[in-house]
Amino acid sequence: MSTRPTSMTAPGLPDSFDVVVVGGGVIGLSCAWRLTERGLGVALVDPDPGHGASWAAAGMLAPTTEASYGEESLLRLGLAGAARWPSYAAELAAASGCDPGLREQGTLVVAHDAGDKAELDRFADYGARLGLRLQSMSGQECRRLEPMLAPDVRGGLLAADSSAHNRLTVAALIAACEQSGVRMLATTVEQIETTGTAANLRVSGVRLADGQPLRSEHVVVAAGAWSPLLAGLPEDAVPAVRPVRGTVLRLMTPPDYRGAEVLTRTLRGTVAGAHVYLVPREDGEVVVGATMEEAGYDDRPTAGGVWELLRDARLLLPVISELTFVEAWSGLRPATPDNAPLVGPTTVAGLVMATGHGRNGILLAPVTADAVAAVVTEDVVPDALQAFSPLRFSHAQVPA
Ligand SMILES: Cc1cc2nc3c(=O)[nH]c(=O)nc-3n(C[C@H](O)[C@H](O)[C@H](O)COP(=O)(O)OP(=O)(O)OC[C@H]3O[C@@H](n4cnc5c(N)ncnc54)[C@H](O)[C@@H]3O)c2cc1C
Repeated sequence: MSTRPTSMTAPGLPDSFDVVVVGGGVIGLSCAWRLTERGLGVALVDPDPGHGASWAAAGMLAPTTEASYGEESLLRLGLAGAARWPSYAAELAAASGCDPGLREQGTLVVAHDAGDKAELDRFADYGARLGLRLQSMSGQECRRLEPMLAPDVRGGLLAADSSAHNRLTVAALIAACEQSGVRMLATTVEQIETTGTAANLRVSGVRLADGQPLRSEHVVVAAGAWSPLLAGLPEDAVPAVRPVRGTVLRLMTPPDYRGAEVLTRTLRGTVAGAHVYLVPREDGEVVVGATMEEAGYDDRPTAGGVWELLRDARLLLPVISELTFVEAWSGLRPATPDNAPLVGPTTVAGLVMATGHGRNGILLAPVTADAVAAVVTEDVVPDALQAFSPLRFSHAQVPA
């Protein structure tokens, strides 16, 4: 399977498309694939598709165990995203010939010390009030499920949250886009082009890095943490997005490792109040994450971040000391002030936002792509996305 985008100097490149998608992470790729399936002519512009935050992610599809006080509408969207994932994975595998690595073994959340256990109990009460499916377990029951857990783990909660392999997912999406006819242009968008008066702007296309214009009726902004840097947007359409660095570690189980899996399902936990997770893959890889750092556009992992992740993960699952260290990798999450995405029409007619997915872009890619396709082809924002209009931070109205 090729993951190389077609060069933009490829002969026969039209100068206009129905839709230009800016950014080829999991969000832009999903949108481009869906829009092409709806019969539209789509160009996707990205100098290095699939290698932004989507490459760094752990791939958890975790609405329940990510649930946070005061973020109930995001929880509902996340549950819709998780419910959509199995059919999305099957459609993607059929369209691309590549398996996105969906694992549905569930997630175990555990507590390390007494303070962590008290926090877990509070979370269980909160989940019960919201009707979330969480099964309480003693430390012994947790170890029966995951025999390699540390002996001092005090108890846990079992949830249905699943995971997908984020890197296989973007590879499958690139293949699905190429096979369905998306024009993949390996360059950057320098500028969003508009026409009309300040009170009545309409998008007319984009200008590429070499100055070449591409005309289009619709432009989808899916440039992740870089979305607010795009030139040409009026002030009230600049998305309220900032980069939040996250580092993950990739460890590999040695092939001859005592004939045992070190972990069968996603393990999350708090260690002296700090959150850590371990996500196992089919091939023996274990992803350990993740830091949350306000460091601007610096995407280099720090020694301190790596140390904290290893320190906390090892207290929950001591056996990770024996795994092979493969890499430490950081990405920039596109974060918003309320931790929820920005999806839908903007103050500029034809300009659609699909960004700001923060910690949940892999989870929310399928529902985001469905919504963007509905906005572009039917001028309708599906109910599930109504609360996530980009206008909630601009105090502006969509032009009639
Ligand atoms: C460490 C870490 C762990 C995570 N774990 C999870 C998880 O377990 N589950 C989950 O659901 N989410 C997780 N996330 C969040 C998830 O990765 C993001 O929400 C998601 O990848 C965002 O996708 P995106 O397509 O918006 O952005 P990106 O993947 O960052 O893609 C943006 C793309 O835009 C391109 N671009 C930028 N500027 C331009 C331009 N001017 N012209 C053209 N292209 C441009 C970039 O090259 C890039 O490829 C995690 C994130 C991190 C960092």
